[in-house]
Amino acid sequence: MEDLRQQAINYLPGIGPQRAKMLEAELGIKTWHDLLYTFPYKHIDRSRLYKIRELTTEMPFVQVMGQFLSFEEAGQGRKHRLTGHFWDGEMFLDVTWFHGISFIKKSVKIRKDYILFGRPGVYGGRLSVIHPDLDKPESMTLSKMSMQPYYSTTERMKKAGMTSRTLENFTSALFSKLTWTLPETLPQYLIDRLHLMPLDKALRAAHYPTTADELAAANMRLKFEELFFIQLVIMSYARKRQQERVGRRFSRVGEAFNNFYHNYLPFQLTEAQKRVIREMHADMKSGHQMNRLLQGDVGSGKTLVALMVMLIAIDNGCQACIMAPTEILAEQHLQTFLNFLKDMPVRVELLTGNVKGKRRKAIEEGLLDGSIDILIGTHAVIEDNVQFKNLGLVIIDEQHRFGVAQRARLWQKSEVCPHVLVMTATPIPRTLAMTLYGDLDVSVIDELPPGRKPVRTMHIYDNQPEQLYRGVIREIEAGHQIYFVFPLVKESEKLDLKNVQDEFVHLKEVFPQYKISMVHGKMKPSEKDAEMQKFVSGETQILVATTVIEVGVNVPNASVMIIQNAERFGLSQLHQLRGRVGRGAEQSYCILVSNFKLSAETRKRLQIMTETNDGFEIAEADLKLRGPGDLEGTQQSGIAFNLKLANLGRDGQLVQLARDTASFVLDADPDLQAKENTLLRRHLQELKKEQQDWSQIS
Ligand code: ADP
Ligand code: MG
Repeated sequence: MEDLRQQAINYLPGIGPQRAKMLEAELGIKTWHDLLYTFPYKHIDRSRLYKIRELTTEMPFVQVMGQFLSFEEAGQGRKHRLTGHFWDGEMFLDVTWFHGISFIKKSVKIRKDYILFGRPGVYGGRLSVIHPDLDKPESMTLSKMSMQPYYSTTERMKKAGMTSRTLENFTSALFSKLTWTLPETLPQYLIDRLHLMPLDKALRAAHYPTTADELAAANMRLKFEELFFIQLVIMSYARKRQQERVGRRFSRVGEAFNNFYHNYLPFQLTEAQKRVIREMHADMKSGHQMNRLLQGDVGSGKTLVALMVMLIAIDNGCQACIMAPTEILAEQHLQTFLNFLKDMPVRVELLTGNVKGKRRKAIEEGLLDGSIDILIGTHAVIEDNVQFKNLGLVIIDEQHRFGVAQRARLWQKSEVCPHVLVMTATPIPRTLAMTLYGDLDVSVIDELPPGRKPVRTMHIYDNQPEQLYRGVIREIEAGHQIYFVFPLVKESEKLDLKNVQDEFVHLKEVFPQYKISMVHGKMKPSEKDAEMQKFVSGETQILVATTVIEVGVNVPNASVMIIQNAERFGLSQLHQLRGRVGRGAEQSYCILVSNFKLSAETRKRLQIMTETNDGFEIAEADLKLRGPGDLEGTQQSGIAFNLKLANLGRDGQLVQLARDTASFVLDADPDLQAKENTLLRRHLQELKKEQQDWSQIS
């Protein structure tokens, strides 16, 4: 028995240095192990031979055994074709080639048996198969006669003549070498408990299954394993941290909180708001550090929740700090907090890059002597050497703009770790949250404050702007403001920027009677803030922007969000943008303007937007449509997903099973010291070595 990771791929029959090079360059396959874990993307059932009389054009790929009795060449140029008359002893079938004709004429023999594999169709009014695969019956191994694997190859490989068939030859050569039982990676008690297929069988069946059921069981076992080890790593870190990180014990809900709740709160909290505040308070009085993710759709009232948990910190003699991703948002928080707190004896200060000199010094002193209760800032400020007397709670707003490293830096701000609350308006489906933020506890505000008018969303094409412009005038005349958003995709930033600037000029011509602001990512922060401020204050009626406005801006008077080239935005992004309107009492609108030519997927995306306002529904759909790799935040999660088979979007239930199982294992044996967990312990150590920075995630 050899270690497959040590066996170089060129030691397999049929793979010379050239092909080995190609395999490594194109598919990253260097060893036997790599090849073993390069799974087919589909299988086609070749277990049955059909008779020609059974064939219909509705059938998928089928195979027929027979002989060519004659060939006939016809047509010129692009119509040049070769037709073979294939006879199965009962009936004839036309088989046609349009290219590679001279090769076929040379290599295909008359009156010899072939197994023909292709899709029945109609050509020239007759049942025929075009460009089939042909195999000699004697070369059809048992595996090829059952479920045939199809492997992905790249353009370069195809040019060099390496097809799925070539890879199939490699894997079957590999399996004929693997005469021993491949070692198991999961403990026997888990295999029994979950009725999993043993690894050896699963690996073989994932390539060469005998039935569709066997293939499904093999895939399930392999997917489970991928997800299980991710959960095991995340949860063992989370538990360690939980044990080790002592937290301040916020046992009191005291004067500040109660005073605010009874005398200042201008409305009833929603049930969801009450629940998440209770969840956080339970964390903060536990004696361990809180690490919680608060998810809530745009407008669900996260800011108020943030303020109220900060009041709990104050009641327990601590300071609290909230970080916003931009200056304008930080300023907005300040206004919001001051409006809520009115004359309450709570000192709130704002510290951004703009605060300098004496003013800054005063704030720094206030933080050190403890007279400032709440600090609002941008992350730039928090990263500077700002010292607190007694920082007990840190809240990070709009999490996905913060990297993992930035969050880790927070711990250094005080001796005992402050409690940490991360707030995000980008709803992450539960299965993804469990993986991305597996070591954060998750709270969800799944209810909007009462009385909101849902935003009405429409999808229109970009060929009739006049109608759109009339709508704009109507809304502005009614005293409202309008957003015009344009995509800004990294690869073509220059081009996009030009679009925004052109459009700005164009809109100025269309609406000479109105004032227009413009913001885009290439502006200096101070310029950007100044332009934004004009829109916030109502000085300008229209804001032309790239997605820089996506996060958090609150202009209740803005009632229309027009998204140009909507086809170029992802679902979550569209939803975030839409969240900028519908914040006031008036009916708001979101207009998705797109090109007429849309792929089916894009059309679906825009349709989902017009059908629902529910951020979680949208996130689920997004995850299914695009896969988790594209979701915002995944890049920053610090977790390299190395999933070959499992898909976080589609395999939600398996993620849950993997998580429950990891939890079951760690409950019984937290350090994986038991004999039956030896395999797990070893594998975990390897994974942790690969992922040094996982410990930073929190
Ligand atoms: P988020 O930050 O979650 O997008 P906000 O905290 O900005 O949402 O809240 C949106 C608006 O709803 C704010 O104007 C806020 O004052 C208001 N709001 C918050 N909670 C309630 C509530 N329970 N009842 C009524 N209005 C609320
Ligand atoms: Mg907010």
